[in-house]
Amino acid sequence: MSCQLCSEAPSYPAERVIYSDDNWILRHSSETDILGYLVLQSKRHFLDLSEATEFERTAYGGMLAKAMKCIREATQCERVYTFSLAEAVPHFHVHIIPRSKDFNAQYKGRGIMSYPVVPACDDQLVREICAKLKQRL
Ligand SMILES: [Zn+2]
Repeated sequence: MSCQLCSEAPSYPAERVIYSDDNWILRHSSETDILGYLVLQSKRHFLDLSEATEFERTAYGGMLAKAMKCIREATQCERVYTFSLAEAVPHFHVHIIPRSKDFNAQYKGRGIMSYPVVPACDDQLVREICAKLKQRL
């Protein structure tokens, strides 16, 4: 079995990993130019929460809530979008996306699905926001 997230996870740049424990990794996305776009992913390979252990599920809830709170404080966004599709990469991960006040209307709500994945954010800005988020978490 070859899984993109399982194989990439050990080599995520440390400055983009906001939090990591035995079960979960919270990192900045490398897709889109949305600063503060995070991904919360399970360390263990499974498809969705129905396959998570009770411990993983419990930790997940707390982790997601903390991530959303921090991202809202750090980016001053109006909404924090969260969704999991597991179509392109069938390994459980949740997209956590700050939607700012001046966000292009065509990408609001369900429109977020058509937001361009390139270009990526400026690396220096990503480092800065990750450092901020690490302090708040
Ligand atoms: Zn995997």
